[in-house]
Amino acid sequence: MYYTHAGAVLKPNKLNHGSNREKTIANPTIIPRSEHNISRTNISANAVKVLYRLKQAGFQAHLVGGGVRDLLLGREPKDFDIATDASPEDVRRVFRNCRLIGRRFRLAHVHFGREIIEVATFRGINDDTEGGERRIENGMLLRDNVYGSIEEDALRRDFTVNALYYSIEDFSVIDYAGGLEDLQQGRLRLLGDPATRFREDPVRMLRAVRFAAKLGFNIDSEVEEAIFDLGDLLQDVPSARLFDEMLKLFMGGAAVQSYEKLCHYSLFRELFPETDEVLSREENKFPVVFVAKGLYNTDLRIQQGKPVTPAFLLAVLLWEPVRQLANDLMAEGEARLPAIQQAGSVVVSQQVRHVSIPKRFSLMMKEIWYLQHRFEQRAGKRPHRLLGHPRFRAAYDFLLLRAEAGEVDAELAEWWTRFQSVEGDAQQQMAASSKPTAGRQRRRRRPRKRLVPAEGE
Ligand code: ATP
Ligand code: MG
Repeated sequence: MYYTHAGAVLKPNKLNHGSNREKTIANPTIIPRSEHNISRTNISANAVKVLYRLKQAGFQAHLVGGGVRDLLLGREPKDFDIATDASPEDVRRVFRNCRLIGRRFRLAHVHFGREIIEVATFRGINDDTEGGERRIENGMLLRDNVYGSIEEDALRRDFTVNALYYSIEDFSVIDYAGGLEDLQQGRLRLLGDPATRFREDPVRMLRAVRFAAKLGFNIDSEVEEAIFDLGDLLQDVPSARLFDEMLKLFMGGAAVQSYEKLCHYSLFRELFPETDEVLSREENKFPVVFVAKGLYNTDLRIQQGKPVTPAFLLAVLLWEPVRQLANDLMAEGEARLPAIQQAGSVVVSQQVRHVSIPKRFSLMMKEIWYLQHRFEQRAGKRPHRLLGHPRFRAAYDFLLLRAEAGEVDAELAEWWTRFQSVEGDAQQQMAASSKPTAGRQRRRRRPRKRLVPAEGE
């Protein structure tokens, strides 16, 4: 047995050739079942079903991508992707529980209850089909529905470690691009010329960061250089796609690592320009600590199987721009609560130009922000009312983070922790002994400047 970078179990003979990089597509490395660790029992039963059904219908069917990569590394795959020579329409004929999705990249989704197995038809290299099946503008691949052979499909994938195929025919692993060696070395290498591949699809830069963060792999130096050169191409990517990618980066259990790498490659500023600006110019370190702790807690919760919501995460990432703008507004005479509300709207409307935020999340973010103000009002009936607010929990967790980062007095967070843990009478005593917040009733005197543009979400 041969233990690779992240615990992969591969047997040595086939892999010690060292010449993987020179392998041509006509001459793939084939690792027979006896020499790798992928067993059908580790593959989702539904994915195995899809593989066999396609085979029985006379098609080629392979597991590909993260499923193969992660199983070889001894990790649990997030999902199972299948590649086949069947066209999407063929796939729909084979499976009743199948939906075709995507214009840009047409795919078949086979549904089994909540599990979806994604089936992609082998992509080809030459566009010899009529009707604009592949569309490239300024080097960017806007649509790719040109079909081809498995060899061609391998070369159109992003990283070599994502271009490994597990065959249902004989359970071997097929490597057309030197992915096994890279897997062993813990190396992320793009197929083809990095600049060309990033121009085709700038999201691949974020994928490089995500895999490096999640797997602890190194990004090949040529690829790194291309990222430094081309990061700003992310501005051309639709904001909805960046939202999906952002979730994978920050909610995949490696948020801290992802954030550090995004900053290192100057990509964080492409996604969150406002946050990047305020964090980098801030002399006071608590905003940085606040973000770092928020990301760390997200990773921890995922590790513990606790739920996480994108709204909380985004509220953390955008809090410092909101807080600073709210402070500016208050300096101009605005009262605290409307200042936070206005600042929240402005910051969200600026952010969605880069990374879209579905309304249900932006509403919750704004609630978390404006409830921060209400935590300061501890007298009378107010604390009880706040306790009953549907967003109390999220807002309280947010307050704890602020206290941990040193932005608010630890005493305030401790008060709320205690308030929740004691009985009704004691709660009343706590509220009774709190002073009403000074300036609570203050009204704005000056006419309001129009600061809030239409949100455009
Ligand atoms: P994970 O599912 O763990 O996030 P993955 O590698 O499986 O990682 P998917 O987004 O599920 O990623 O994609 C499946 C496979 O499709 C990839 O492994 C890769 O081979 C190919 N692929 C996905 N996105 C791209 C892309 N933007 N460019 C080229 N190939 C891609
Ligand atoms: Mg996948």
